[in-house]
Amino acid sequence: MIHYKTSEEVLKIKESADILGRAHGEIAKHVKEGVKTSFLDKIAEEFIRDHGAVPSFKGYNGFPSSLCISVNEVVVHGFPSDYELKDGDIISVDCGVFHQGFHSDSAYTYPIGEVAPSVLALLKATRDSLYLGIEQAKSGNRIGDIGHAIQKFVEAKGYTVVRELVGHGLGRKLHEAPEVPNYGKKGSGPLLKQGMVIAIEPMINLGSRNIVQERDGWTIRTADRKPSAHYEHTVAIFEDRTEVLTTHKFIEEIVKF
Ligand code: MG
Ligand code: MG
Repeated sequence: MIHYKTSEEVLKIKESADILGRAHGEIAKHVKEGVKTSFLDKIAEEFIRDHGAVPSFKGYNGFPSSLCISVNEVVVHGFPSDYELKDGDIISVDCGVFHQGFHSDSAYTYPIGEVAPSVLALLKATRDSLYLGIEQAKSGNRIGDIGHAIQKFVEAKGYTVVRELVGHGLGRKLHEAPEVPNYGKKGSGPLLKQGMVIAIEPMINLGSRNIVQERDGWTIRTADRKPSAHYEHTVAIFEDRTEVLTTHKFIEEIVKF
C-alpha cells in the first residue's frame, strides 16, 4: 500500500532531509585517503544526534551503524570498519535520518585521489542517471519511466543495472511501497501522484550486473569484483512539480569531479 503524504508531512521529510544534507557535508570533509570508514560513521552519528535526530539505519533490522559504507566492488550495505581509504578507491556513503517521525535517505559515491578514468566515468554516469530518473519522477508518469530512463542511459555506455536492489517509497518507515527499480519499461508500474515520496537510487556496475551477499548477511558486492557506483535522492511528487528533498550540495562544494 502506498502512503500518500500531506504537504505538512512532506515539509517534515524536508526538515529531516535538510539535516541529512548537512550530515553528508560534514562527512565529505573527512572522506580522504588514510581515513578509517568507522570514523566517517562516528562523524555522521554525532552530527545527526546533535541536531535532535536519529540515524535511520542504526538498528534497522539489526544493522550496526549509522552509515552504509560500500567501497569499490561493494554495491551497498557495507559496514563501516577499520579499513583505511586509499588512493584509487571509490566509496559509497549512504545515510538516512529520522526526524519528527519521518525518514529521509540519500547516498553519494566519492572517488579517493586518483581513480582510474574508467571508474570515474562510471561514477559520473551513475550520478547523471540519478538525475535522468528524477526528471521522469513526475505526476502522471509511472514508476517504470524512472527505471527505463536510468537503464537506457547507463546500458548505452556499457554498464549494467543491479536488479535485486531497488529504490523505494519512504516516510514514517524507511522502506515503503512502491519499489522503484532502476530498470523497466516505459509506462509500466504504479502511477506517480501527488503525495508520493520516493528514494531513487541507481546501483550501477562496471562489469556484470550479478551480485553476491557476503556471509555477514548485509554486504552486497559484485560477483566479478568489479566496481559499482550508487547515488540516491529522496524526492516528493506534487501535482505540478517534483521536489528533490535531499541535497548533495554540501558534498559537491568540497568534492569536485
Ligand atoms: Mg534507499
Ligand atoms: Mg540510502
